[in-house]
Amino acid sequence: MKRKRVVLLGATGSIGDSTLKVAHDIPERMEIVGLAANSNVEKLAIAANKTRAPAVCLVDERKIDLLRSKLEYEPKIFAGESGLCEIAKLDGADMVLIAIVGTAGLHPALDAIETGKDLAVASKEILVMAGEAVTQAAQNRGVKILPVDSEHNAIFQCLDGRTSEVRRIILTASGGPFRETPREKLEYVTVEEALKHPTWNMGPKITIDSATLFNKGLEMIEAHWLFGVGMDRVEVVIHPQSIVHSMVEFADGSTLAQLSYSNMCFPIQYAVTWPDRVANTLPPLDFSTLNKLEFAIPRYEDFPALNLARRAGEAGGTLPAVMNAANEVAVAAFLNRRIRFPQIWQTVTDVMDRHRTVAHPDLGAILAADQWARAEAARFVKL
Ligand code: NDP
Repeated sequence: MKRKRVVLLGATGSIGDSTLKVAHDIPERMEIVGLAANSNVEKLAIAANKTRAPAVCLVDERKIDLLRSKLEYEPKIFAGESGLCEIAKLDGADMVLIAIVGTAGLHPALDAIETGKDLAVASKEILVMAGEAVTQAAQNRGVKILPVDSEHNAIFQCLDGRTSEVRRIILTASGGPFRETPREKLEYVTVEEALKHPTWNMGPKITIDSATLFNKGLEMIEAHWLFGVGMDRVEVVIHPQSIVHSMVEFADGSTLAQLSYSNMCFPIQYAVTWPDRVANTLPPLDFSTLNKLEFAIPRYEDFPALNLARRAGEAGGTLPAVMNAANEVAVAAFLNRRIRFPQIWQTVTDVMDRHRTVAHPDLGAILAADQWARAEAARFVKL
């Protein structure tokens, strides 16, 4: 069995931590050959010293000397945004795992594809913003896009390559911390309450997205591109226990589901070892303690993110990038206590309503729409 040589972008984040755990757990199948982060020198240096990755990248160029001083060996060092693209093209790497929050992963993703490396994608922004361009580029170059997001990884496992027989893709959502909060109380929820996810421990942006359900909205669009299934066949069901990670209903009416504890090491490992299943130290489900699995229809009226995402995904073009960018600005404003929770949806709705969608955009048009939406959203939240 081949040992996969992986470049990890976003090494200091929550997915980065889980990826390093997986690499430690299955060293015979996975080797970290590159590590990149934005500015967290301490954490990046610890990861590098531990894995002895031959290449390291720090986007914040002002801290490069500090990084050098903390390294106990002499890897190749890349710096800045251009360095991020360079490390994504690293000679000898088989796969680039992208776990960068925000849009900075898009260029490196295209560079990795161009140099023939498979992509393992955690960053939703890549497929939401540029699903058409990225999937087309991967197809042209004959490289694979392997989903790391637990829901898409679950669907990928259930599909096992049979996309033509799919009737519906059913994404599960925990419902977040406000699953049962009455609509009128959403106005008053605090940042601390929104950051308390009931079942997953993740970075702050995605945790707020889980509370608004924008996370699930982004995932609907991601699923549409990853599996080539129309938006009208991508559905969401609330499943508070986060044990069933998603489901696929096939043409014959049978539904397959993937189950495991909510630990990102499961999907990360499968993305790396696919199509093999490899023994590890992760705990399997203990059914004696799992006494119920519940499912419910989302509260579409109270949590407008799902309908906004369906609209963006159906319109396509630049609208998903606009939704994503406006949401990023609104989430940052909420985290900085400048707007209230429901204003996240209001900001995104306002910016989407005023956007003139460009169909089949190239990268330039996507990035221009992204910038436009950020400026409009900043105006709306009065940043
Ligand atoms: P975190 O906020 O925990 O970590 C973000 C990582 O991205 C850090 O390593 C950070 O570096 C790096 N980063 C941020 N900005 C840049 C930049 N401009 N250039 C290079 N690196 C950058 O995020 P998560 O790990 O939670 O999420 C990462 C992505 O994965 C997101 O897109 C999220 O939606 C997705 N995802 C996350 C899941 C989870 O369980 N956490 C589950 C499924 C998907 P630094 O520390 O130096 O700032």
